[in-house]
Amino acid sequence: MHGTRILEEADRLMTVCNSCRYCEGLCAVFPAMEMRRSFSDGDLNYLANLCHSCGACYTDCQFSPPHEFNVNVPQTLAIARNESYAAYAWPRAFSGAFARNGLAISVIAALSIAAFIFGFAAFTDRKVLLGIHTGPGAFYQLMPHNAMAALFGAAFLYAIVALIMGVRAFWRDIGEPVGMKLDAKSLLQAIRDAGELRYLDGGGVGCFNEDDKPTDRRKIYHHLTFYGFALCFAATCVATLYHFLFAREAPYAWWDLPVVLGTLGGLGLLIGPVGLLAEKWSSGAIRPRWGRCWRCISAWYSRCSSPCPTANSSTASIVSSHWCAMRGSGR
Ligand code: SF4
Ligand code: SF4
Repeated sequence: MHGTRILEEADRLMTVCNSCRYCEGLCAVFPAMEMRRSFSDGDLNYLANLCHSCGACYTDCQFSPPHEFNVNVPQTLAIARNESYAAYAWPRAFSGAFARNGLAISVIAALSIAAFIFGFAAFTDRKVLLGIHTGPGAFYQLMPHNAMAALFGAAFLYAIVALIMGVRAFWRDIGEPVGMKLDAKSLLQAIRDAGELRYLDGGGVGCFNEDDKPTDRRKIYHHLTFYGFALCFAATCVATLYHFLFAREAPYAWWDLPVVLGTLGGLGLLIGPVGLLAEKWSSGAIRPRWGRCWRCISAWYSRCSSPCPTANSSTASIVSSHWCAMRGSGR
């Protein structure tokens, strides 16, 4: 017995796949699966987080739908992976909040940030929003450096603590000895595989969209998104060093390192997610059904409480994980 319905289904599929093993060269999931004859919840969450949703095993599988075995490994592991994020989230009490109210939380967060910035400016000096500021320190007319550093430093620390607690819960669940974490060779291999998105290539031909045509585009867009974040983080770190070590205040010249890194990172963060959405759009996975949405809106106006039929779209599936093969069970 497993904790959730989707883990029951993942167990069924892994049992079928363990008898077949046709896909063992495609990614790290199948060699890792072969190390077990039965699967705990932790094992299945581990396998789900090794999967990058490349889709190759669905296309290659002779038992995928409409076969009666109904073997759909990418979809099942994607749902299990999503549920594992909630299971390992910290603090646990918030784990379901975003899943239940994603749109409302996104809108409230965006409005709160805007209100915060405008409120801060209005509280200090209303003219700073419309004025032209130049020279060292001009950047901090809007928000003093120390206030900004304290706020975003606290958010950063919270994210680090939440990540550590999540990894701790995950590690405990998969039942690995703590010593595994200190195996430098495995860790380096895992970081390299994650950095290269090694398993988002469908065994070498590219990942498969809903149109069953393999391409490397999704991998490239994921890289742009991930390294865009990394470059923006690097820009922030360099600017912090400038500020505290060399007493150089923003804004910096266009050719200076924080600006160059931040601009490149921003471009990656723009092109990557837009490209991923375009991929999903062109494959028909997220084409909105306006007619049905309109019926929903009409129903809402007439106080109908039925849920929107398009509410559970596949947008969650475009969020690829960067979990890596800790055990070096590569192909
Ligand atoms: S996905 Fe299908 S072909 Fe691949 S190992 Fe599983 S059962 Fe075999
Ligand atoms: S990474 Fe690709 S081949 Fe491996 S299980 Fe996931 S969808 Fe299948």
